[in-house]
Amino acid sequence: METQSISVSPLNRPKPHRAHIPYGCAVRWRSPLEDGELMPGVSVFVSQRAFVRFCAHAGSDLENEVGGWLVGKWCLDKRSDEQFIVIESILPAPFTRHGGAYLTFTQDTQVALYAQKEERYPGKDLVGWYHTHPRMSIFLSEYDIWMHENFFPHPYQVALVIEPFSYTGGFFIRQPDGELDARRYFGFYELHNRTNRSVVHWRNVFPEPEIEQGE
Ligand SMILES: [Zn+2]
Repeated sequence: METQSISVSPLNRPKPHRAHIPYGCAVRWRSPLEDGELMPGVSVFVSQRAFVRFCAHAGSDLENEVGGWLVGKWCLDKRSDEQFIVIESILPAPFTRHGGAYLTFTQDTQVALYAQKEERYPGKDLVGWYHTHPRMSIFLSEYDIWMHENFFPHPYQVALVIEPFSYTGGFFIRQPDGELDARRYFGFYELHNRTNRSVVHWRNVFPEPEIEQGE
């Protein structure tokens, strides 16, 4: 794997936004692999717009892996100091090299995405990346882990894997000590305003009846 590559100047070191963690306007979708043993270092909130957009991109090429950046906000709860991210939008990656079982963000990819982010989403944070595994399961390959550690090294940055045939997906989130489990993925919080219907159609995540965190 070529490392010459991809030294894009790092994004300006971000600071977390102080905000209230929006449990009250979210539905928690739980992965069956969440057993209480692994603790995500950061809670992941996803806007419905972002969910629809990354699923649409995932379904746009069923033969090759596709992917891109997840853009939004990295936040600290005002009261509890709990960390969370809000995924608000996506930037599909151009100039990738890909096949049925791999996806590479080239240097051109990183440069183009960085420019797009600065232009379209100034002030937002790069909170992670997503890619597809057509006809495979939800996991991080050795190469995916390499990508994650090298391009998305901040503790709050997450990796989303989507399988477009089976309508499944999951988030890989570092634990508080920085460990990343490449097999056990997490669910997420779907942000919506109660009048909306859920847009989540993945078959491998299940809604929690109640948000357990109160005021
Ligand atoms: Zn992969």
